Amino acid sequence: MKIKALCVVALACSLAIAQTPDKSATNSDIVVSAKALQIHNSFLVVDTHADTPQRFLDDGFDIGSTDPNDNGHISLNKAKRGNLGAEFFSIWVDPETNQGHFAKHTFDLIDSVYEQAARRPDGMMMAFSPNDIDRAHKEHKLAALMGIEGGHSIENDVHLLHDYYRLGVRYMTLSWSNTNEWADSSGDIDDPKVQHHDGLTDFGKQVVLEMNRLGMMVDISHVSDKTFWDAIATTKAPVIASHSSARALCNAPRNMTDDMLRAVAKNDGVVQVNFYSGFVDDDFRKAMMAQKKDQDAAVQKYVDDLKAQGKPVDYVQIDRIEREWLAKIPRPPLKALIDHIDHIAKVAGVDHVGLGSDFDGVSGATPAGIDSAADLPKITQALLDRGYSTEDIRKILGGNLMRVFREVEGVMNQMQVAAAAK
Ligand SMILES: [Zn+2]
Repeated sequence: MKIKALCVVALACSLAIAQTPDKSATNSDIVVSAKALQIHNSFLVVDTHADTPQRFLDDGFDIGSTDPNDNGHISLNKAKRGNLGAEFFSIWVDPETNQGHFAKHTFDLIDSVYEQAARRPDGMMMAFSPNDIDRAHKEHKLAALMGIEGGHSIENDVHLLHDYYRLGVRYMTLSWSNTNEWADSSGDIDDPKVQHHDGLTDFGKQVVLEMNRLGMMVDISHVSDKTFWDAIATTKAPVIASHSSARALCNAPRNMTDDMLRAVAKNDGVVQVNFYSGFVDDDFRKAMMAQKKDQDAAVQKYVDDLKAQGKPVDYVQIDRIEREWLAKIPRPPLKALIDHIDHIAKVAGVDHVGLGSDFDGVSGATPAGIDSAADLPKITQALLDRGYSTEDIRKILGGNLMRVFREVEGVMNQMQVAAAAK
C-alpha cells in the first residue's frame, strides 16, 4: 500500500488501499437518473490510475471479490456497476523500502496484474493498445492496462524501459514523489537535502524521446514544474497527466497551474483529474497539513514499536492508522471534484480533460458519494446537471484519453519508420 512514511512526508499521491466505511456520503449524495445512467453506460469509460496492484501483491486481493465488506475502490463487480471499461493499474515501487531492487518489485507488480487477468478471464483481459481496449469493451470485459508510477523503476537503464514496454506498460510518470537521478519531483522540490537537476537531465530527455519511440505515454503527474516544462519541450507526442488536478482550485504542488493546463492543450495531451480529497479541496488539504505532524508521529510510533519487537512492518496496519486520521476531516462534496473537471475544460478545453481517480491509493479520502468505481455514473449525472453535452461527456469519460493514446501510437509509427529508413 502506498501510505508509507515517504508518501506521508511528501503529501504525495497516494496513501493506501482499502477504504473505511463511508460515513458522510449520504450528506451530499447525488441520484443518478435513468437517462444519465443510459448515457453513462453507452460510452467507454477509461480511468488512468488505480493502485490496486499493491492489494493484489501484498494482500492477495482477488479482483473477482464480491465481499460486501471489502472497502476497496476496484473490483470487477464495482467496475461493471460503474461501467468502467478500462483501468490503467499503477505499478508503484516504494523507493524507500525497495532500494537496490526497484526493477524486481516492478516486475512483481506487473506479474500481479497478469495473474488477476489469468484468474478472471471472463471479466478481465490484458490490453496494450486502444484497439485492445475497444475489443475488451465489446466483450464486456474490463481492459487491464499498466502504467509505471515513478521513473526510478527503470534504474537509469533504458533497456529496462524496453522490457517494461514489452510486458505491456503503456505510460510512465517521469517521477513519483521522489526526485530520481534524472527527473525532479514536486514531492521534494523544496527539500534542500535532495539533489535536484533543474528539471530533466540530458538522460531524462533521452528517456522521454525513447518513450515516444516505443509508444509509451509520457506522464507528467508528480513531476516538478520545471520537469513538466522540460518534458513538454522535449516530447514529440502528446503527454498525459494520469492523475492530477487543478492548482487554481487546490494549491497542492502536485496539481497543475493554468499555464500548464494550456500547455497540455497545445501539446494535444490530456489531464486526467485526480479524485483525492487532498488534491481536490483546499480546506481538506489544509486540515491534512495541520494534522500531518501528529499523523506522522502515530505511524512512526507504530513502526518503532514493531522494530523494537523485531517484527516486520505491516502496511495494512499503517493504512488503518492513516485512514483513521483522514476520516477525522470532513469529506468534500462531489461538486468539488466536478469543479476541477469544469475548470480544466474551461482553461484547456473539453478535449483535454479526463478521469484519473487514484482509486485504492488515497486511504479512502475521496469526495462524498464516490466510494468506488461503482459510483462513476454520478460524475455523468453531475456533468449533465452542469449542461455538458453528451458528446463532451463521452470525451471526458474516455474519448480524450483514447485519442491521445492513438496519437502516441501514430508518433511511435512515424519515429520507427523514420529510423528504419536511415
Ligand atoms: Zn500518484
